[in-house]
Amino acid sequence: MMQLYQPLNILGFAYREIKQALIDMERMFGLLKLRPEIDDAPTAQPLVVTGGTLVFDNVHFAYDREREVLKGVDLTVEAGKKVAVVGPSGAGKSTLARLLYRFYEATDGEIRIDDQPITMVTQTSLRHSIGVVPQDTVLFNDTIGYNIAYGRPNASHEDIEEAARLAQIHDFIIGLPKGYQTMVGERGLKLSGGEKQRVAIARTILKNPPILILDEATSALDSATEQSILGALKRIEHNRTTLVIAHRLSTIIDADLIVVLKEGAIVETGTHDSLLEQAGLYAELWQRQLDGYTAGADIQAAQ
Ligand code: ATP
Repeated sequence: MMQLYQPLNILGFAYREIKQALIDMERMFGLLKLRPEIDDAPTAQPLVVTGGTLVFDNVHFAYDREREVLKGVDLTVEAGKKVAVVGPSGAGKSTLARLLYRFYEATDGEIRIDDQPITMVTQTSLRHSIGVVPQDTVLFNDTIGYNIAYGRPNASHEDIEEAARLAQIHDFIIGLPKGYQTMVGERGLKLSGGEKQRVAIARTILKNPPILILDEATSALDSATEQSILGALKRIEHNRTTLVIAHRLSTIIDADLIVVLKEGAIVETGTHDSLLEQAGLYAELWQRQLDGYTAGADIQAAQ
């Protein structure tokens, strides 16, 4: 009986982990009950990530027939590079991330990872290769250690601590009376938005995916928290293909490429400096953030 117990226990853990991760993703994308089922193609193969180059090739998408939300997006994120998508609210930024994660299917065009159309690979392998740091992380009603660990169910305590250190949440955790055993979630200690995001970062560090989607928090964080999160993100972005859905421009100044999306189409691309020189929509959005109260804090944080 005991011999059986351990594998079953591990299976149970893996099942809970996968289920919760999917719930997280679906909440992140606000999709519960909204998403049509997408099945694997009968010939679907596991995705093989060699470098992690992402290509959006003439991608069109409509949630409903009346209105096209993406109108032929062409975008390449080279392996290991960081591309930020910015633009006005409703431009279609999060939709790009949802299509990459294959919560929805492009109505036309194709998304490829290392030359493999995502419609031709298994969804399990696709989602295994992509780590998502959502805006608002949903925590299990369990210990904070457990919440970090389900990034990799078989992680040792040392691995968990190391991930927490890299995510800059370790010191906070050991300052709690029960440390890593502290209960969090709805029935436990309430964590702030910035703390939850760092738990999500620690989880992603443990998962170690070659591709990252970062969905930045819309709400302003105080500048110490923002610095700490930026530092943590820098560590996980290193050498990974990263797609950032950016709301605060100060956090993406260092992106290899910034793409400005407006009404479902890319209207500008470039680095922060070249886009400012173009004096177009990006420069306007940047100016608007400089003028705003929170942007004042952003700028200080960026320097
Ligand atoms: P924000 O910066 O406000 O998060 P965004 O650029 O990420 O905006 P998306 O969330 O991609 O914008 O939405 C693009 C458009 O698609 C919006 O007009 C939105 O109303 C619409 N949309 C988003 N989700 C759905 C849905 N599930 N069903 C129908 N329309 C949707």
